[in-house]
Amino acid sequence: MRHFTRIIATLGPASAPLVGSLIRAGVDLFRINFSHGDERQREVYFNDIRSAEKEAGRPVAVCADLCGPKIRVGLIEGGSVELEAGQEIVIQRRPVAGNAQRLSTTLPELVDVAQPGQHILLSDGRLVFEVARTAPPEEFTCRVVVGGTLASGKGVNLPRSSLAISSLTEKDRGDIRWIARRDFDYVALSFVRTAADVAELRALLDAHGCGAHIISKIEKPQALDDLDAIIDASDAVMVARGDLGVELDYARVPVVQKSIARTCELEGKSCIIATEMLESMIHGRRPTRAEVSDVANAVFDHADAVMLSGESAVGRHPVEAVTAMRRIVEASEQFLQTHGRAVEPALAEPEPTAALAAAIRRIQEMQDIKAVIVFTASGFGARILSKSRFASPVLALSHAPRTVRRCCLYYGVSSLEVPKPENLSQLIELCLAKCKEAGLAAAGDRVIVVAAHPIGVPGSTKVLVLETVR
Ligand code: PGA
Ligand code: MN
Repeated sequence: MRHFTRIIATLGPASAPLVGSLIRAGVDLFRINFSHGDERQREVYFNDIRSAEKEAGRPVAVCADLCGPKIRVGLIEGGSVELEAGQEIVIQRRPVAGNAQRLSTTLPELVDVAQPGQHILLSDGRLVFEVARTAPPEEFTCRVVVGGTLASGKGVNLPRSSLAISSLTEKDRGDIRWIARRDFDYVALSFVRTAADVAELRALLDAHGCGAHIISKIEKPQALDDLDAIIDASDAVMVARGDLGVELDYARVPVVQKSIARTCELEGKSCIIATEMLESMIHGRRPTRAEVSDVANAVFDHADAVMLSGESAVGRHPVEAVTAMRRIVEASEQFLQTHGRAVEPALAEPEPTAALAAAIRRIQEMQDIKAVIVFTASGFGARILSKSRFASPVLALSHAPRTVRRCCLYYGVSSLEVPKPENLSQLIELCLAKCKEAGLAAAGDRVIVVAAHPIGVPGSTKVLVLETVR
């Protein structure tokens, strides 16, 4: 059987020629990171995924990950520079080819907000600067607290600072116009701080007629203060551990991960665990044991999806990384089948599908149910059933191609595009036939069908049918 926990791979120069192999190895959703590359390259990535998807004969989703106010070091002479603890270095507003004396960043406004005494973390926190003196509007001077090698384009973080810049930058707004003209399934919002940031993106997507669902990336401590509202406003969240582990004490990242996953479970929202999951596979062919444990732990935390970043985007062994991830996921899921805890999603608002999910769980205790088949217009029903984590797989059928792809993020859900049935008996026949075709059940097996009635009308009457495959 296929893995239940979904696999996300970031597409980049290393993986672009391998899209088909990555799908065969188990990728369910590709992330295109708008922090890198240009439109022409992204267009190629997008089209390559869509044609590989056709070839694979199963849905694969695509996520556009907006850059957000991610600050990066500008160009450095020779690619990188050695900085020593105790030395001083100037950060200037105007772009400069950086060296050990001065450098610039991608955010000119940094010069306006830097305050003496403030700490600046670079390259995922490997280097630390402290602002010594400011000289606005042109530059400020830092003392290097922790030195090391600093390369062009590395990240710059100012923990706990509330820069007066929106989490949607001008660049993001331009990118959204481009995204809206293509059929992206998800848009990820970086450096979310409040639910209002999410609402702003939603309004912008609506204004451009873009129906993509929103993944909020939790990577700032401020987001933790507004977490419930952010999750409520989003379709999915990503525990973006890369920046989160710099902005926040990294020691707290695992407990934050657990609490975010738990809240998503209760709220019926999808949860992605991301960054450094198989980091050593950027170079090597085998993951470290700690990395193996980390992926397994994400499965035990009931994440819907686990994500590869550099491993697939720029690593030497993208296909091996996906295969390793899938194998760890499968082994961990097998353990969960016998040792897992029961899940009782407790949606804040009573929701009919959640009630049906509880009924299905009860039925499964009494009968051997091979599959749960849901006919869904928006994918909402599939997501709620997925959060219940039944022992049997969920098959989602929809007449909307976008919905079929959306389901690629949902734990344990496989999805298929079908013509819209005209009545309930046609719908049931279709569900039975498709689940047999998909190899989820054979003649004589018991399955459950869930649908809305009238068909495809959200908020309508819900139907649960207990049937035998013929
Ligand atoms: P990024 O986000 O890879 O776009 O930075 C993920 C993270 O910060 O963990
Ligand atoms: Mn990030």
